[in-house]
Amino acid sequence: MKHKLIILSGPSGVGKGTIVKKLLKKGSFALSISCTTRAPRKGEKDGVSYFFISKQKFSDMVEEGGFLEYSNHFDNFYGTPKAFVEEQLKTHDVILEIEVDGALQAKKAHPEAILIMILPPSVEELKARLIKRGSEDMQTIEKRVKRMEYELSKKDCYDFTVINDDLETAVAEIEKIIKSKR
Ligand code: 5GP
Repeated sequence: MKHKLIILSGPSGVGKGTIVKKLLKKGSFALSISCTTRAPRKGEKDGVSYFFISKQKFSDMVEEGGFLEYSNHFDNFYGTPKAFVEEQLKTHDVILEIEVDGALQAKKAHPEAILIMILPPSVEELKARLIKRGSEDMQTIEKRVKRMEYELSKKDCYDFTVINDDLETAVAEIEKIIKSKR
């Protein structure tokens, strides 16, 4: 059996992280841990949430061809370490949870990858939640909403879209998609 690269994207707040956790519990997937130049948030551990690295180290890795894909998101770089993914693909389906620009790059390098975009049941509701969330200034909020609109505008480039209305249903749908591609 050939193992698959499964790429999940979707706007911030859509519940990608929870879906990934469920998939990892249910199947024998490997999750790629990305490198990022952003600072860790409270509770995030190096080597678990991300590999938190400097901009210099990130650009060295780019030069060495160490990323399967990478992109700049809100002034920070994020990338998928190539060696880990290629090694894991020998024995497991590998999940990447990444934003759209990187996902489309990864699809170019791995045309057989399954691109799945997670959508909210209501775009308006998600937008309202993003606006209400936290204590960010208006500029940050506007950036977030613009980014959400950008991510959604790319949904036709994806092989599948899954609406995360009910978590179990969304996870079951993703599992079905993966099975159908075997
Ligand atoms: P956050 O900073 O909130 O953890 O992530 C911001 C965005 O970066 C999310 O959309 C997340 O999916 C995306 N992201 C995380 N890792 C990678 C990666 O390796 N490559 C790309 N292109 N995006 C990533």
